[in-house]
Amino acid sequence: MTDRSSRADGARVLADLHALRAIGTYKTGVHKPTFSEPHLGSLAWLVQRLPEAGLAGEIDGIGNVLGTSTKGGPKLLAGSHLESQNYAGWLDGPLGVVYALEAARVINADPGVNGAVEVAAWCDEEGHFGSFLGSRSYVGALSETEIDEARDRDGNRTMREALSEVGLAGRPRMTVEPRRHIGYLEAHIEQGDTLESGGLGIGIVSSIVGIWQYRIAFTGEQNHAGTTRMAIRRDAGLALARFCVAIDERFPAACGPRTVWTTGRITLDPGAPSIIPGAAEMLFQIRDDDPAVIARLEDLLRSMAAEVDKQGRCSVAVERIRTGAPALMDASFQDAIEQASAACAGGRSLRMPSGAGHDAQILATVMPAGMLFVPSIGGISHHWTENTADADIVTGAEVFVETCRRLLVR
Ligand SMILES: [Zn+2]
Repeated sequence: MTDRSSRADGARVLADLHALRAIGTYKTGVHKPTFSEPHLGSLAWLVQRLPEAGLAGEIDGIGNVLGTSTKGGPKLLAGSHLESQNYAGWLDGPLGVVYALEAARVINADPGVNGAVEVAAWCDEEGHFGSFLGSRSYVGALSETEIDEARDRDGNRTMREALSEVGLAGRPRMTVEPRRHIGYLEAHIEQGDTLESGGLGIGIVSSIVGIWQYRIAFTGEQNHAGTTRMAIRRDAGLALARFCVAIDERFPAACGPRTVWTTGRITLDPGAPSIIPGAAEMLFQIRDDDPAVIARLEDLLRSMAAEVDKQGRCSVAVERIRTGAPALMDASFQDAIEQASAACAGGRSLRMPSGAGHDAQILATVMPAGMLFVPSIGGISHHWTENTADADIVTGAEVFVETCRRLLVR
């Protein structure tokens, strides 16, 4: 550990987080959809703060902010996002941006560190208009056509309209400068209860899980709900419900230790109380960081479908509609976080995969990337009650700054 002036200032970190919370407050959380006034206000707030950290930057043509340094030596990129889910929590995103800003303030002013931290806020991580539009733009994986086609969730506004309303249309989009950065570091609240229930302070993200999605369609026979005898019915809705239960019974024997699966939407056709459904469909999602586990589960899913087919009442079609791409976090970044946790958090850390998606998975496609988590109280997130104890926020900031230093001076 180094002297006090080269450590995170916990009070300053908390004050910054509260300043961002005051922009677009909703109950104890915030409401900052992408390109809303509070979101733009938060980006402007960050741009104003950058000079304190020896950085200069502005909002680019997709809504990203990137603060760059003219200091010599290696550069580490750090950040997260500033928009929120609707009526959601105050830390999901801002925590990582403020930690990055704090690391830049401490390290960029330190003549003992040959190198600098550069700060990013990636636009629309929460997916109001698309999927990781900001970070994908930065790594060069977002086409103009995709921006043309992007609309907000309720379909009221195109991305182009939004960009023009907030005065960003026509601005250039910043893209990654090859070999400029030694890597990317992001902090985030855990959004689960693993750290809290284990009495831990820091999660060292080993990987960000991939998402596999399936459309499972059942075909039976539509008929009259009053006159069709039970024995001869071909009820697609009932077949679907049984299939859901069977998944829950049979997946545990084949899944990995942290595999999760969800049936997020069920539709019955025609969906009327007096008609036996002739067709039914479920959208089913599996998340894991190991494609081999998914391959096993997908085989199981298909063999279960074949069993239903064989029984003869209904037929089942399993279609994969999204193929996951798990992102591995860089081993040396994980080691640096672990060492910093030993120095600043009494070693109360745990290596763990992230079940949620983050910009780090996009940055990981072009540079080494790492992530650290701080505990979420009650594991609650994407809700206005989302919170983290002040002491955990401060410890996380200290670990983050120390990790940045270790990565730059190694
Ligand atoms: Zn987030």
